Parts: sequence; C-alpha cells; structure tokens
Amino acid sequence: MNRVLVANRGEIAVRIIRACKELGIETIAVYSDADQDGLHVHLADKSVSIGPAPSRKSYLNIEKLISVAIEERIDAIHPGYGFLAENDEFSDACARNHICFIGPSGDIIRKMGNKIQARKAAVEAGVPVVPGTNEKNSDVEEFARAAHEIGYPVLLKAAAAGGGRGMKVVFDERELRNFYQQTQAEAAAAFGDGTVYIEKYIQNARHVEVQVLFDHYGNGIHLGERDCSIQRRHQKLIEEAPSPVLDSKMREEMHAAALALAKSQNYTSAGTIEFVVDADSRKFYFIEMNTRVQVEHPVTEMLTGIDIVKEQLRIAEGHKLSIEQRDVQFMGHAIECRINAEDPFRGFMPMPGKIEHLHLPGGTGVRVDSHCYAGYSIPLYYDSLLGKLIVHGQDREEAIVRMLRALGEIDLKGIRTTVPFHERVLGNPDFRSGKYNTRWVEESFLHELNKPVEV
Ligand code: ADP
Ligand code: ADP
Ligand code: MG
Repeated sequence: MNRVLVANRGEIAVRIIRACKELGIETIAVYSDADQDGLHVHLADKSVSIGPAPSRKSYLNIEKLISVAIEERIDAIHPGYGFLAENDEFSDACARNHICFIGPSGDIIRKMGNKIQARKAAVEAGVPVVPGTNEKNSDVEEFARAAHEIGYPVLLKAAAAGGGRGMKVVFDERELRNFYQQTQAEAAAAFGDGTVYIEKYIQNARHVEVQVLFDHYGNGIHLGERDCSIQRRHQKLIEEAPSPVLDSKMREEMHAAALALAKSQNYTSAGTIEFVVDADSRKFYFIEMNTRVQVEHPVTEMLTGIDIVKEQLRIAEGHKLSIEQRDVQFMGHAIECRINAEDPFRGFMPMPGKIEHLHLPGGTGVRVDSHCYAGYSIPLYYDSLLGKLIVHGQDREEAIVRMLRALGEIDLKGIRTTVPFHERVLGNPDFRSGKYNTRWVEESFLHELNKPVEV
C-alpha cells in the first residue's frame, strides 16, 4: 500500500494521515469548499477539492470520490467514521473499481448496518439481545401486542438509525400508538428506510462496547471494553476504560460475546460491538455493531498501546494480525472527553466561528486529537466536534485528576466550547464514584450546570 485517499475531514482525517505517515504511506486528502483551511489539507501529501460545502455534494459524493481515487492512482480509501464509513454502496463501489476499502465488505456493512439483521446475527451467534422484535412489524396491533409482552417502557427504533437519532421511548400503549407512524415517517426521511422495531427500554442502563480487530485469515482479538454511558440525547460525550460497572466475570463474558458475533460474520478490520448493561439485573444485551473506527478509539489505544488505525491499514494490506490475544495488556485507566463547539449553558447550541487563540494541554499521559489551530474558522456545515482530549492514569482517580488538570490548561478564545461541561462532570461526586447511567446527564446533572458557580 503506497497511496491512501482519506475520505473524511476534521480530527479523524488528521488521525488517519498521521498513521499513514508513520507507516511510510503517501496520503491524498479531499476537501469541500468550506474546508480549504482544514488541517487535514495541510498535513496530507496532496489534497484535492471535491465540491461544495454541503456533505451530499462533497464528502458523501461516491462518484466524485471514486473518480479522484482513480485519477490519483491510489491503492486504498480510508473512510474514517461518519460520512461514508458505514455505506455498503461505497464499499462495493471501491471493490468494483479495484480500490481497497479500509473496512469490511459491503455485504457485512449491509447486514450489520441494519439493526434488525444485526440482532438476528447476534441471536444466531448465541449473544444475548435486548428483548424485542426480530421481524419487521408493519402493523401497529402487532407492535402493541409485542410491547405488552415485553413490558413498557419500550423503544421504537429505526432499523437503519445512527448517530443517536431515530429512537423514541414510549411509556404506554397510548404513546406507542401515537408515535408509531411518526417514528416510521421520520426514519424514512432521515435514513431512507422507514423500518421500525421495538426493544425493551432499559431504564438503568450503561453503554459498554467491545473493540475487536479481525484479519483476513480468521484471526480475531478483542481490545477490551469502553464505557460510554455519559451521553446526551443518546450521543456519547465522555468515554472511559475499563468500565467501572463490570466485574471480571461479566467482562469476560462480554468480550467473548463480541468475539463470537464478529467471528460468526467472518468479520474483517476494526469493529465495535455495542451492549447495554442493565445495572439492576446485571445482565448485558447486544444493541448494535459499528463496522468502522470509532470516535472513542483512542481510549483503547491509551490502555493497550495498540494503534487501531495502523492495524486497520495492515489488515487491509493483507497482513495477519501483529498481536495475539495473550499479548494484549490492559494498563491503568483512560478517559476521553469530546470537545464540541457548543454552548453547554444554552442547550448545547452549536457555535461555529473563528478560534482567535488556542493553547492545548500536554504533559504526562495526555493526548489531544484535534484539527483545530489558532485562526481556524469552524464551518457550520459539519458536526461540531473540535477534538478529543484523552488521558491515561495508573487508576481511575489519577485519570480523573489528570483530565481536570488538562481541561484547565485549554485556553481557547473566540467561540464557546463544552469544556466547562466536562470540568463539572469530572468534578461531580456521582461521576467520581462511578454511579451514573445513560440518563444521568439529562436527568440529574444538567440542571446543576445552569446554576451559577464561582469560577
Ligand atoms: P446509534 O446507532 O444511534 O448509536 P444505538 O442502538 O447504539 O444507536 O443506541 C444509542 C444509545 O441509545 C445507546 O448508547 C443507549 O444509550 C441508548 N439505547 C439504545 N438501545 C437502548 C435500550 N434498549 N435501552 C436503553 N437504552 C438504549
Ligand atoms: P461513535 O461511537 O463512533 O461516536 P456514534 O454512534 O456516536 O459513533 O456516531 C456515529 C458517527 O456518525 C459519528 O462518527 C458521527 O460523526 C456521525 N454522526 C453523529 N451524528 C450524526 C448526524 N446527526 N448525522 C450524520 N452523522 C452523524
Ligand atoms: Mg451506537
């Protein structure tokens, strides 16, 4: 592999370019009209303009990306996360044009991208799934019967959903009947597929996921779990590993379940198997698989010392996994804060604009993955992630203190960010004691955020 096209922008494009450089691989960046000043454009060996700012016309334009790939004689495309990373047609288009897609085949993406199909695959692999429906139900009466059997509250979930959207919690049959059609219509509009199914809504839930790596020779390993229960609107804000809620038996079972599911699909590349843990019954259930590198992958890299993006590149090149399960060591504790250009005091309103001044933290155990620099203007077209601050410590307490220290070093002027949100979560006694669930931010924390405090 000599030349890789990075079909993404922002921090993940920068992350991939960095890995390629270290492996001696040339990189081609692509950019929209809104991203001419993007850091990925500066860092890549070459960059190519791919069209207007709206993603549909640039970062999601399969035809354009393939034609750039052919013209530039690249060997492989890395899709990053978001955009085309879980688009089966893109993976297929690469294959048709003899371009290596750094990720699994279109068939696997298709299957795992549909949450109903993925549930079926999990059941077949002997992995527990959340009680729910495994067939697409077209009739509200069937839904009502199923929900009655499962017990309320239930989630109406779009099979093709992603990014925390396409989900509606309903607490009784009246709500189910009210929201049934609306959820279908919204899913059809947002994801091009109106298929909806039902899952029991776990009220005291933790989100715990397992990172896996599989090569093309049937070898697979897990790199442990990440706890991503600090969420707002079903979107992750803080992730950590190891998970404070797993005991060693549950941890082992969850890792084994993740490997069993990936193996049953002949999975290749890096992937993540997501579970919800019912903190009351202490059972875990599969919810979905992400067939790509994830935003929070650095947490695992800090814990294991394994470079997940380099492994993806090596696997795509046809190499066997460079590590065996017994070589994977988990050291200490790692935490990641997603720093967004949003105002946490005004309902997380997006805050595009110009970064007038920027100083980023450093020191022992601190990693920053960001595309931001002083003078950079954040375009309003894309998601608001400015970067990720990741820390590693000998234990959870040291990691928390280190994160607070590093957050305090961030000096960013010009726009509002979610840094104050993170500082207050990390300082909160519930977080400190590990006692939180996926609803904690919205139900127990946000009202506190809006109280005035001495800074
Ligand atoms: P997405 O594709 O949007 O990531 P997921 O199925 O991974 O969708 O769900 C996103 C989040 O929604 C989870 O992290 C969790 O917080 C919540 N969630 C999903 N399914 C359930 C469930 N059955 N019970 C409770 N919470 C759930
Ligand atoms: P991860 O666990 O990797 O963060 P998420 O399920 O939170 O995955 O989000 C999946 C990807 O989808 C993210 O990488 C993000 O960039 C992208 N994404 C999140 N929200 C949206 C959205 N509203 N529309 C399109 N893409 C989104
Ligand atoms: Mg998910």
